[in-house]
Amino acid sequence: MAAIAARLADAWPNAVVELDHDNAYHLLVATILAAQSTDKLINTVTPALFARYPDPTALAHADQGELEAMIFSTGFYRMKAKHLIGMAQRIVEQHGGEVPTTMEQLVDLPGVARKTANVVLGSALGKNEGVVVDTHVSRLAPRLGLTAQTDPIKIEQDLMRLVPRDQWSIFAHRVIWHGRRVCHAKKPDCEHCTLAPLCPSAGLAHEPEPGSNKSSRRRLGALAAAAKLSSAAKPSTNNRRGPAASRGQATQATQTTKTVKTKTTKAARSAKEKRA
Ligand code: SF4
Repeated sequence: MAAIAARLADAWPNAVVELDHDNAYHLLVATILAAQSTDKLINTVTPALFARYPDPTALAHADQGELEAMIFSTGFYRMKAKHLIGMAQRIVEQHGGEVPTTMEQLVDLPGVARKTANVVLGSALGKNEGVVVDTHVSRLAPRLGLTAQTDPIKIEQDLMRLVPRDQWSIFAHRVIWHGRRVCHAKKPDCEHCTLAPLCPSAGLAHEPEPGSNKSSRRRLGALAAAAKLSSAAKPSTNNRRGPAASRGQATQATQTTKTVKTKTTKAARSAKEKRA
Protein backbone atom coordinates (compact mmCIF):
# COMPACT_ATOMS: atom_id res chain seq x y z
CA MET A 1 0.00 0.00 0.00
CA ALA A 2 2.79 2.41 0.99
CA ALA A 3 4.66 1.71 -2.25
CA ILE A 4 1.53 2.23 -4.34
CA ALA A 5 0.75 5.50 -2.52
CA ALA A 6 4.35 6.69 -3.01
CA ARG A 7 4.32 5.97 -6.74
CA LEU A 8 0.95 7.70 -7.14
CA ALA A 9 2.32 10.70 -5.24
CA ASP A 10 5.30 10.86 -7.61
CA ALA A 11 3.05 10.57 -10.65
CA TRP A 12 0.30 12.96 -9.53
CA PRO A 13 1.69 15.20 -6.77
CA ASN A 14 -0.92 17.90 -7.25
CA ALA A 15 -4.03 15.85 -7.92
CA VAL A 16 -7.15 17.80 -6.98
CA VAL A 17 -10.84 17.59 -7.64
CA GLU A 18 -11.39 18.67 -11.25
CA LEU A 19 -14.74 20.37 -10.70
CA ASP A 20 -14.34 24.15 -10.80
CA HIS A 21 -15.44 25.78 -7.55
CA ASP A 22 -14.76 28.71 -5.25
CA ASN A 23 -16.39 27.40 -2.08
CA ALA A 24 -18.12 24.43 -0.45
CA TYR A 25 -21.53 25.38 -1.89
CA HIS A 26 -20.15 25.43 -5.44
CA LEU A 27 -18.44 22.06 -4.96
CA LEU A 28 -21.55 20.52 -3.44
CA VAL A 29 -23.69 21.63 -6.39
CA ALA A 30 -21.07 20.58 -8.96
CA THR A 31 -20.61 17.14 -7.38
CA ILE A 32 -24.36 16.47 -7.34
CA LEU A 33 -24.48 17.47 -11.02
CA ALA A 34 -21.48 15.29 -11.89
CA ALA A 35 -23.36 12.02 -11.27
CA GLN A 36 -23.50 10.08 -14.56
CA SER A 37 -21.71 12.93 -16.30
CA THR A 38 -18.14 14.26 -16.73
CA ASP A 39 -16.32 16.96 -14.79
CA LYS A 40 -15.46 18.64 -18.10
CA LEU A 41 -19.12 19.00 -19.05
CA ILE A 42 -20.12 20.13 -15.56
CA ASN A 43 -17.47 22.88 -15.72
CA THR A 44 -19.20 24.28 -18.81
CA VAL A 45 -22.54 24.45 -17.00
CA THR A 46 -21.66 25.71 -13.53
CA PRO A 47 -20.43 29.27 -14.31
CA ALA A 48 -23.92 30.36 -15.45
CA LEU A 49 -25.54 28.32 -12.69
CA PHE A 50 -23.44 29.91 -9.94
CA ALA A 51 -24.09 33.38 -11.40
CA ARG A 52 -27.85 32.77 -11.35
CA TYR A 53 -27.89 31.02 -7.95
CA PRO A 54 -24.86 32.34 -6.04
CA ASP A 55 -25.77 30.77 -2.69
CA PRO A 56 -28.10 28.17 -1.11
CA THR A 57 -30.77 30.81 -0.42
CA ALA A 58 -31.03 31.73 -4.11
CA LEU A 59 -31.07 28.06 -5.14
CA ALA A 60 -33.73 27.25 -2.53
CA HIS A 61 -36.08 29.67 -4.32
CA ALA A 62 -35.23 28.50 -7.84
CA ASP A 63 -37.95 27.71 -10.33
CA GLN A 64 -37.58 24.00 -11.05
CA GLY A 65 -38.31 24.37 -14.80
CA GLU A 66 -35.71 27.10 -15.21
CA LEU A 67 -33.14 25.09 -13.28
CA GLU A 68 -33.88 21.98 -15.35
CA ALA A 69 -33.25 23.95 -18.54
CA MET A 70 -29.89 25.16 -17.21
CA ILE A 71 -28.67 21.67 -16.29
CA PHE A 72 -30.36 19.72 -19.10
CA SER A 73 -27.07 18.71 -20.76
CA THR A 74 -25.79 16.98 -17.61
CA GLY A 75 -28.39 14.19 -17.82
CA PHE A 76 -30.97 13.09 -15.27
CA TYR A 77 -31.83 16.78 -15.12
CA ARG A 78 -35.26 16.41 -13.47
CA MET A 79 -33.94 14.38 -10.55
CA LYS A 80 -30.86 16.58 -10.21
CA ALA A 81 -32.94 19.78 -10.19
CA LYS A 82 -35.20 18.31 -7.52
CA HIS A 83 -32.20 17.29 -5.42
CA LEU A 84 -30.47 20.67 -5.83
CA ILE A 85 -33.52 22.64 -4.73
CA GLY A 86 -34.25 20.21 -1.88
CA MET A 87 -30.62 20.32 -0.77
CA ALA A 88 -30.59 24.14 -0.77
CA GLN A 89 -33.90 24.35 1.11
CA ARG A 90 -32.60 21.96 3.80
CA ILE A 91 -29.42 24.05 4.15
CA VAL A 92 -31.47 27.22 4.55
CA GLU A 93 -33.98 25.71 6.96
CA GLN A 94 -31.62 23.66 9.13
CA HIS A 95 -28.15 25.18 8.76
CA GLY A 96 -28.75 28.92 8.47
CA GLY A 97 -27.85 28.98 4.78
CA GLU A 98 -24.33 27.59 5.32
CA VAL A 99 -23.15 24.26 3.94
CA PRO A 100 -22.88 21.90 6.94
CA THR A 101 -19.44 20.64 7.87
CA THR A 102 -19.95 17.11 9.17
CA MET A 103 -20.47 13.82 7.36
CA GLU A 104 -23.67 13.15 9.29
CA GLN A 105 -25.20 16.51 8.32
CA LEU A 106 -24.07 16.33 4.70
CA VAL A 107 -25.46 12.85 3.99
CA ASP A 108 -28.77 14.04 5.45
CA LEU A 109 -29.14 16.48 2.52
CA PRO A 110 -31.24 15.41 -0.50
CA GLY A 111 -29.07 14.00 -3.29
CA VAL A 112 -25.97 13.69 -1.09
CA ALA A 113 -24.39 10.30 -0.30
CA ARG A 114 -20.97 9.47 1.15
CA LYS A 115 -19.09 10.04 -2.11
CA THR A 116 -20.38 13.60 -2.53
CA ALA A 117 -19.92 14.31 1.19
CA ASN A 118 -16.32 13.05 1.03
CA VAL A 119 -15.58 15.28 -1.97
CA VAL A 120 -16.90 18.36 -0.16
CA LEU A 121 -15.30 17.52 3.19
CA GLY A 122 -11.91 16.67 1.68
CA SER A 123 -11.58 19.29 -1.04
CA ALA A 124 -13.56 22.29 0.24
CA LEU A 125 -13.37 21.88 4.00
CA GLY A 126 -9.97 20.19 4.44
CA LYS A 127 -11.37 17.25 6.43
CA ASN A 128 -10.40 13.59 6.05
CA GLU A 129 -13.63 11.88 7.05
CA GLY A 130 -13.56 9.14 4.43
CA VAL A 131 -12.20 8.09 1.04
CA VAL A 132 -13.96 9.24 -2.13
CA VAL A 133 -15.04 6.10 -3.99
CA ASP A 134 -16.21 7.03 -7.47
CA THR A 135 -16.23 4.96 -10.64
CA HIS A 136 -12.42 5.20 -10.99
CA VAL A 137 -11.62 4.22 -7.40
CA SER A 138 -14.18 1.39 -7.67
CA ARG A 139 -12.30 0.11 -10.72
CA LEU A 140 -8.69 0.63 -9.64
CA ALA A 141 -8.87 -0.58 -6.03
CA PRO A 142 -9.76 -4.18 -7.04
CA ARG A 143 -7.31 -4.11 -9.95
CA LEU A 144 -4.56 -3.13 -7.54
CA GLY A 145 -5.58 -5.89 -5.13
CA LEU A 146 -6.58 -3.39 -2.42
CA THR A 147 -10.08 -4.78 -2.04
CA ALA A 148 -12.13 -7.79 -3.04
CA GLN A 149 -15.36 -5.79 -2.67
CA THR A 150 -17.57 -4.26 -5.34
CA ASP A 151 -19.89 -2.21 -3.14
CA PRO A 152 -18.53 1.38 -2.84
CA ILE A 153 -19.22 1.54 0.90
CA LYS A 154 -17.24 -1.66 1.51
CA ILE A 155 -14.45 -0.55 -0.84
CA GLU A 156 -14.22 2.67 1.17
CA GLN A 157 -14.00 0.71 4.44
CA ASP A 158 -11.13 -1.39 3.05
CA LEU A 159 -9.28 1.70 1.83
CA MET A 160 -9.81 3.50 5.15
CA ARG A 161 -8.08 0.57 6.86
CA LEU A 162 -5.17 0.53 4.41
CA VAL A 163 -4.49 4.24 3.82
CA PRO A 164 -3.29 6.55 6.63
CA ARG A 165 -6.09 8.93 7.57
CA ASP A 166 -4.20 12.11 6.73
CA GLN A 167 -3.93 10.84 3.13
CA TRP A 168 -7.52 9.74 2.54
CA SER A 169 -8.51 12.73 0.41
CA ILE A 170 -5.31 13.14 -1.63
CA PHE A 171 -4.97 9.37 -2.14
CA ALA A 172 -8.46 9.18 -3.68
CA HIS A 173 -7.74 12.09 -6.03
CA ARG A 174 -4.48 10.50 -7.15
CA VAL A 175 -6.25 7.22 -7.86
CA ILE A 176 -8.95 9.12 -9.78
CA TRP A 177 -6.31 10.96 -11.85
CA HIS A 178 -4.54 7.66 -12.54
CA GLY A 179 -7.83 6.10 -13.61
CA ARG A 180 -8.61 8.97 -15.94
CA ARG A 181 -5.17 9.19 -17.53
CA VAL A 182 -3.62 5.70 -17.41
CA CYS A 183 -5.75 2.89 -16.00
CA HIS A 184 -8.71 3.29 -18.34
CA ALA A 185 -11.75 1.04 -18.00
CA LYS A 186 -11.35 -0.83 -21.28
CA LYS A 187 -7.73 -0.29 -22.27
CA PRO A 188 -5.50 0.31 -19.26
CA ASP A 189 -2.06 1.49 -20.35
CA CYS A 190 -0.16 -1.05 -18.26
CA GLU A 191 2.91 -0.69 -20.47
CA HIS A 192 3.45 2.90 -19.32
CA CYS A 193 1.99 2.57 -15.82
CA THR A 194 4.19 3.39 -12.84
CA LEU A 195 2.19 0.95 -10.73
CA ALA A 196 2.76 -2.04 -13.03
CA PRO A 197 5.51 -3.69 -10.88
CA LEU A 198 3.12 -3.65 -7.90
CA CYS A 199 -0.14 -4.38 -9.69
CA PRO A 200 -1.54 -7.94 -9.75
CA SER A 201 -3.64 -6.98 -12.80
CA ALA A 202 -0.76 -5.59 -14.91
CA GLY A 203 -1.04 -6.84 -18.46
CA LEU A 204 -4.34 -8.54 -17.74
CA ALA A 205 -6.97 -8.00 -20.42
CA HIS A 206 -9.75 -6.21 -18.56
CA GLU A 207 -12.49 -7.23 -20.91
CA PRO A 208 -11.73 -10.96 -20.95
CA GLU A 209 -13.57 -13.37 -23.17
CA PRO A 210 -16.12 -15.18 -21.04
CA GLY A 211 -14.57 -18.41 -19.89
CA SER A 212 -10.99 -17.35 -20.59
CA ASN A 213 -9.12 -19.57 -18.13
CA LYS A 214 -6.00 -17.41 -18.17
CA SER A 215 -7.90 -14.22 -17.35
CA SER A 216 -9.99 -15.98 -14.74
CA ARG A 217 -6.94 -17.44 -12.98
CA ARG A 218 -5.14 -14.08 -12.87
CA ARG A 219 -8.23 -12.22 -11.70
CA LEU A 220 -8.70 -14.80 -8.95
CA GLY A 221 -5.07 -14.29 -7.99
CA ALA A 222 -5.68 -10.54 -7.60
CA LEU A 223 -8.80 -11.14 -5.55
CA ALA A 224 -7.01 -13.69 -3.35
CA ALA A 225 -4.27 -11.11 -2.73
CA ALA A 226 -6.95 -8.59 -1.77
CA ALA A 227 -8.56 -11.09 0.61
CA LYS A 228 -5.17 -11.69 2.23
CA LEU A 229 -4.57 -7.93 2.56
CA SER A 230 -8.02 -7.42 4.01
CA SER A 231 -7.42 -10.04 6.71
CA ALA A 232 -3.93 -8.73 7.46
CA ALA A 233 -5.00 -5.08 7.78
CA LYS A 234 -4.67 -3.92 11.36
CA PRO A 235 -7.70 -2.29 12.96
CA SER A 236 -7.24 1.47 12.89
CA THR A 237 -9.02 4.26 14.76
CA ASN A 238 -11.91 3.62 12.35
CA ASN A 239 -12.12 -0.07 13.15
CA ARG A 240 -12.69 -0.45 16.83
CA ARG A 241 -14.83 -3.53 16.56
CA GLY A 242 -12.03 -5.89 17.60
CA PRO A 243 -10.43 -9.05 16.28
CA ALA A 244 -13.70 -10.94 15.88
CA ALA A 245 -14.90 -8.31 13.39
CA SER A 246 -11.56 -8.47 11.53
CA ARG A 247 -11.87 -12.27 11.29
CA GLY A 248 -15.39 -11.74 9.93
CA GLN A 249 -14.04 -9.36 7.25
CA ALA A 250 -11.35 -11.88 6.26
CA THR A 251 -13.96 -14.63 6.02
CA GLN A 252 -16.17 -12.34 3.93
CA ALA A 253 -13.29 -11.55 1.57
CA THR A 254 -12.49 -15.26 1.22
CA GLN A 255 -16.15 -16.03 0.54
CA THR A 256 -16.18 -13.30 -2.13
CA THR A 257 -13.19 -14.97 -3.80
CA LYS A 258 -15.00 -18.36 -3.67
CA THR A 259 -18.13 -16.79 -5.17
CA VAL A 260 -16.12 -15.27 -8.03
CA LYS A 261 -14.39 -18.60 -8.58
CA THR A 262 -17.78 -20.33 -8.86
CA LYS A 263 -19.01 -17.66 -11.29
CA THR A 264 -15.92 -17.86 -13.50
CA THR A 265 -16.15 -21.68 -13.53
CA LYS A 266 -19.78 -21.39 -14.66
CA ALA A 267 -18.78 -18.84 -17.33
CA ALA A 268 -16.04 -21.20 -18.57
CA ARG A 269 -18.53 -24.08 -18.73
CA SER A 270 -21.04 -21.92 -20.59
CA ALA A 271 -18.43 -20.77 -23.12
CA LYS A 272 -17.35 -24.38 -23.69
CA GLU A 273 -20.95 -25.44 -24.28
CA LYS A 274 -21.41 -22.58 -26.75
CA ARG A 275 -18.28 -23.57 -28.63
CA ALA A 276 -19.48 -27.19 -28.71
S1 SF4 B 1 -0.64 -1.89 -14.22
FE1 SF4 B 1 -2.41 -1.73 -15.62
S2 SF4 B 1 -4.17 -2.48 -14.43
FE2 SF4 B 1 -2.51 -2.05 -12.95
S3 SF4 B 1 -2.90 0.09 -12.29
FE3 SF4 B 1 -1.47 0.19 -14.01
S4 SF4 B 1 -2.77 0.49 -15.85
FE4 SF4 B 1 -4.10 -0.24 -14.17
